[in-house]
Amino acid sequence: MATEYKHPKLGIIRLQRRVGCKRISISVARSGRISVTHPWYVSRRAALAFVEQKVEWIGAARQRVQQAVKPSLIGEGYRTRSHTLRVDCNAPKCGYMISNSEVLVCLVSGVAADSEQGQQVIRTALTEALRAEAHKVLPEMVERLARQHGLSYNGITIKNIRSKWGNCSAVNHLNFSLYLMLLPDELVEMVVLHELCHTVHKNHSAEFHTLLNSLLGGRERELNLALRKYRTSL
Ligand SMILES: [Zn+2]
Repeated sequence: MATEYKHPKLGIIRLQRRVGCKRISISVARSGRISVTHPWYVSRRAALAFVEQKVEWIGAARQRVQQAVKPSLIGEGYRTRSHTLRVDCNAPKCGYMISNSEVLVCLVSGVAADSEQGQQVIRTALTEALRAEAHKVLPEMVERLARQHGLSYNGITIKNIRSKWGNCSAVNHLNFSLYLMLLPDELVEMVVLHELCHTVHKNHSAEFHTLLNSLLGGRERELNLALRKYRTSL
């Protein structure tokens, strides 16, 4: 059975006593709601005392979760690799146009660029611009790096993948996330080389890393750390 407790700092906490549960666990939902699950033999009072010890940790965890969920606003002048965003806020209808160097987002009056709807049109438009850039950049880069290192692959596909930067299939077909276009060239090249190395080693074994690291001139670790700063989303 679940009960609720109003914590002076954290707000409503949902407490659930569960049979089979062996320790107290605290989770923070995207909404910010805090849930505590505890074994049946731990009293509600003891569970709350545990929460009290973790107040700071919970507050920080909640901030992290909510920041991760909340994307930052994108406005006029935002630049991708080769496109600059322009917003027409007084258009006859909502939509977008992508040229070689510009993404023009049209919004009807009443739909502000920083509203949820406006941001949605902007993100859709920019995603398509990134896709176009990826089609321009990646096939050539993959071909060049494969040739340079004597590796072979069976074609590439560019997709709106958010879970990873790329992958290599069993038959050496390479898939890449269009969000690679948000990275500097040397990181895009690292991801491409990573997938090309999977045409030789289908795992992340020591041999795989030795090969990749040698193709990267010993910079695998450094570049991987740099890659962590980027996300597969706008
Ligand atoms: Zn891999």
